[in-house]
Amino acid sequence: MSNRLSGRVAIVTGGANGLGEAIAGKFAAEGAVVVIADVDEPAMEQVGGELGVETSHCDVSDRASVQALVDGVVERHGRLDIMVANAGIANSPKYLDIDDEFWGRMIDVNLTGVFLCNQIAARHMVARGNGGVLLNTASILGAEGNPQTPAYAASKAGVISLTRSGAMALGEFGIRVNAVGPGYMKTRMTEGLRAVPELEKSLAEMVPLNRFGEAGDIADAAVFLASDEASYITGHTLFVDGGWLTHHLPARTEEQEEIRVRAQAEAEAR
Ligand code: NAD
Repeated sequence: MSNRLSGRVAIVTGGANGLGEAIAGKFAAEGAVVVIADVDEPAMEQVGGELGVETSHCDVSDRASVQALVDGVVERHGRLDIMVANAGIANSPKYLDIDDEFWGRMIDVNLTGVFLCNQIAARHMVARGNGGVLLNTASILGAEGNPQTPAYAASKAGVISLTRSGAMALGEFGIRVNAVGPGYMKTRMTEGLRAVPELEKSLAEMVPLNRFGEAGDIADAAVFLASDEASYITGHTLFVDGGWLTHHLPARTEEQEEIRVRAQAEAEAR
């Protein structure tokens, strides 16, 4: 603990489980006053008790619920310095089977939820005139798309875009807007992918660092982005993915490389 967030008041949505729980824990250890906000009451009460942090029921897809969350925190603590818009849902029917109800719910929670948390927190921060930090949870799938979870991937692409737009709109008020972009992390969201050892192993082998990420890996990045150490960083999505997105630039195969070296040598000899 080094008190990098000492005296800051932070909300962490989706803080009852997984990545949000880890972020809330590290924020508290760094000296922040933390309020976790979630729809999962039993988990939220348990985590709140374990971490010794405040809890507040909130459905991020509902404007009145987010407004009540922010108003309550400002009333109790006098201000809000950091909003971590992390709550999200995953999974998806196949592309051709997605219906309007599923699509709407995914966008409502994962994209509209982030927008509402960002906008409502920012309105308070602008009125207070002391700057602030908005930190969103995106995903590698928002950068690369995904055939199995297209609605989820689209929602996370929206989060990456909204993060950039927010940075441009709110910079003049001293509000920094960034995102973390997790790769495949060990939370209940990826339980299905890790249920069968062969599947887990084959996926882990596709990660340059050869493993699934831990929730703490995201929390470390979140502390950095929320702290003054990142005071000149805004509009950025920091992918914490063990190198997964390097797949966009696949390494040449040995065979391709041999052809390249031969052709290069022939060209130079001419
Ligand atoms: P998780 O399911 O363990 O936690 C998500 C939390 O969000 C839960 O506590 C849930 O109750 C809460 N939540 C869901 N809907 C909500 C709503 N409408 N209002 C308030 N809270 C709500 O999953 P996680 O892995 O910790 O995921 C956290 C974030 O990270 C999500 O945005 C997810 O999309 C993203 N992410 C996760 C991974 C991964 O591999 N686990 C990868 C990329 C991105």
